[in-house]
Amino acid sequence: MYKEQELSNLKKSISKLNKNFPGKNLVFSDGNKNAKVMIVGEAPGRTEDKLQKPFVGRAGKILDNLLESINLDRSKVYITNVVNYRPNKNRKPTPKEINKFKNLLFKHIEIIKPNCVLLLGATAATAVLNHIGPLSEVRGQWKNVKIINSYFDILTTFHPAFLLRQPNQKKTAIHDMKKLTKKI
Ligand code: URA
Repeated sequence: MYKEQELSNLKKSISKLNKNFPGKNLVFSDGNKNAKVMIVGEAPGRTEDKLQKPFVGRAGKILDNLLESINLDRSKVYITNVVNYRPNKNRKPTPKEINKFKNLLFKHIEIIKPNCVLLLGATAATAVLNHIGPLSEVRGQWKNVKIINSYFDILTTFHPAFLLRQPNQKKTAIHDMKKLTKKI
């Protein structure tokens, strides 16, 4: 099946997980479906819900800066989130919600088949690496992880919203981004 068709089927499956997000829009993805890098965030915020695109608010600007630091932009990456609906009041997705969306996120990664995956923050690390605990235990490290039937190189860095609060950590995030360049 062509990627386009698989993505359209996946979108339909994800749209069935909207029950606990009344009135919220599906925020599926942005970028290039043939990209070598797939980026996974946490969940949409207010602006993302409104525009139905991931990372278009304040955190999105930071993500764009990080991409720019290694000469990438949205035309060269593919972006999605663990949870594709905005949780009420911008709360973090619950472990139950993460589990509910996780299998479809794995399917999403399998369809895109990127050379590598960049996880942004703890929710993405929990969903994809099964990591519970401080982000510092996995941040900046490459992991080779089996997702469905294939292995993927996966790197974790800070969530851009964290960098909004802690701009002094941007240097470390850029250092992580440079590790991506070596893989692609
Ligand atoms: N934060 C996320 O994790 N994802 C978005 O799409 C926007 C903000």
